[in-house]
Amino acid sequence: MPPRPSHAAFRPAVWSALIRTVAFALLWLPTPAAAQSFRAEITHQARGVFPGEAVLVRVVPSVPVSDIRGAVFGVIVRFYQADDTSWEGLVGVDLLVEPGSYDLALQITPVAGTPVERDYPLVVEDKAYPTRQLTVAPRYVEPPPDVSARIARESQEQQAIFADASDARLWRGPWGTPVPGRATSAFGSRSVFNGQPRSPHSGADFRAAEGTPVVAPNVGRVVLTGDTYFSGGSVILDHGWGLYSYFAHLSKILVDKGDLVEPGQTVGQAGATGRVTGPHLHWTLRLNGARVDPLSLIELLAR
Ligand SMILES: [Zn+2]
Repeated sequence: MPPRPSHAAFRPAVWSALIRTVAFALLWLPTPAAAQSFRAEITHQARGVFPGEAVLVRVVPSVPVSDIRGAVFGVIVRFYQADDTSWEGLVGVDLLVEPGSYDLALQITPVAGTPVERDYPLVVEDKAYPTRQLTVAPRYVEPPPDVSARIARESQEQQAIFADASDARLWRGPWGTPVPGRATSAFGSRSVFNGQPRSPHSGADFRAAEGTPVVAPNVGRVVLTGDTYFSGGSVILDHGWGLYSYFAHLSKILVDKGDLVEPGQTVGQAGATGRVTGPHLHWTLRLNGARVDPLSLIELLAR
């Protein structure tokens, strides 16, 4: 009969067997029934997935869920229940996002059970935007030194608004245009003012005579009104959940900060204030910070 191993030699073998048993048991821990049977059909809808577009992501879970949240491009994407079976969330692909594949990381919380995670790839394609040449008053291309502090302050104020997302979703139903007629758009154009390149055009322009009523495209809270150096008469509406409308070059402002406006309610009148070549309405849309073409959103939510 071989000698019994000493106590010291026996111990590592016992531990190793014990660890193997525990690991095996962990592998076979039963998963909750809800997570095992959970399925989610995830699709998206957009004119195209490229810089400057709003993308509608639809999730159809196999069981009732209480919440869906996503994360992509470093921001949170909130989802709302669109009908009995599906949830929708809006993703903004910023004008300057590099083409490539990005994962939308979803966390889906079933009414019964623990949250389930899913990744949904969004493949951003390249888009070549045209360049436009514009002639404006020289003070908008080389601003005099005494307005530089004002320009910096106005820019910071706007960035602070767009960086925030209010908790209530105010917008609902279909989106309209703020003035009648088709947009001359030029969203995303690389703008050259008096021969000098400036940042890309981050809104849609609509032909509008001076005095044309500008109406809210959806429900929103007025969070900024006033005269700004480049944008002239300005109104910013907070539609909730990180979605904002910015109207520029207004000749008249007819709302006050704090007002809640309904779709179709007049917020001001079109004009030619600020850096313009003539009267028109400029509409910028910000979606969780991303600069997206307002027309891409209208098309998705024109139901
Ligand atoms: Zn514009």
